[in-house]
Amino acid sequence: MLAVRKTGKEKGLKVEDVPIPNINDNEVLIAVEAASICGTDLHIWDWDEWSSERLNPPLTIGHEFAGTVVETGKSVTNVSIGDYVSAESHVTCGTCHQCRTNQAHLCPNTDVLGVDRDGAFADYISVPEKVIWQNDRIKLAPEIAALQEPFGNAVFATSEIDLTGKNILVLGCGPVGLFTIGITKASGAARILASDINQYRLTLAKEMGADNVFNPKTNTMDTTQWVSEMTDNLGLDIVFEMTGAQNAVKTALGSAKNGGHVTLFGIPTSPIEIDISNDIIFKNLNIVGKYGRRIFETWYMTRNLLETRAVDLQPLISASMSLEQIEDAINMLKEGNAAKILLRPTAHQSIDSGP
Ligand SMILES: [Zn+2]
Ligand SMILES: [Zn+2]
Repeated sequence: MLAVRKTGKEKGLKVEDVPIPNINDNEVLIAVEAASICGTDLHIWDWDEWSSERLNPPLTIGHEFAGTVVETGKSVTNVSIGDYVSAESHVTCGTCHQCRTNQAHLCPNTDVLGVDRDGAFADYISVPEKVIWQNDRIKLAPEIAALQEPFGNAVFATSEIDLTGKNILVLGCGPVGLFTIGITKASGAARILASDINQYRLTLAKEMGADNVFNPKTNTMDTTQWVSEMTDNLGLDIVFEMTGAQNAVKTALGSAKNGGHVTLFGIPTSPIEIDISNDIIFKNLNIVGKYGRRIFETWYMTRNLLETRAVDLQPLISASMSLEQIEDAINMLKEGNAAKILLRPTAHQSIDSGP
């Protein structure tokens, strides 16, 4: 089968012909129909500090996907051949404190698909039955079904806080920021502001439901000044910080109203200096950090939002490409003129037309 692989401890990825994975008794084999490229995969391409410490090549990458089950292990009971599925990418231990208290996304013994074990940028992937998520083929096309995994991050970032009637700012309009805009819109936010330094992403932000967008790069004002102007100096009820950039974290704290809420989701690569007295305590800010998805609670919410088209992700699918085009896809994402790119392996087609 074809697979997109990290073959050595170096930059780049290779498309290779490799054996179809064997499955253990508790695993299923899935013919991948669509797999989306994530920021994580760009880090892996670059072989940056994080990926060079974490990955152990050779490895097939990719963790966001949908496909059809073609084989099941002996002890698999709830998944059958022919099922149309996606998967939670975090294979957790199930026995630690976090796993047993509905915090499995924080399990210290997690294996991530396409990071710690072979992933989905391939004709076939094997995964344990326990991470399988059943899809409805009529309601979700493979491209959209593949996006449930990253969309779940935005569902988690926005959940556990009342969005109804609130004025909201989303800092950073990458895929998860754009998902966040769609969810806040569907959840009854009154007014949604969005900021990014990429004009193309701001166009998508509007398409997903942002009322006003701002590009600090092409403006003499900074984002905090723009927010003051837009809110009669009051600031916003809720700010979602999706970039992890030092300036953006400060902007997030500065843009929330006194007594407002800030969700930090973007991951800074180094420590950030913050004026805790003036920017947090005297403002009575509520700040929460969010990471990952609550398994499987956010998957159910994701299904509800996507199957009903309460949030339509079609505008965010910038291209569908073959596995062999991985380098073109990575370049397109790096140039910043794309939101999500789907890889479409072809092996499943011969199964569909099989005996
Ligand atoms: Zn991802
Ligand atoms: Zn665990």
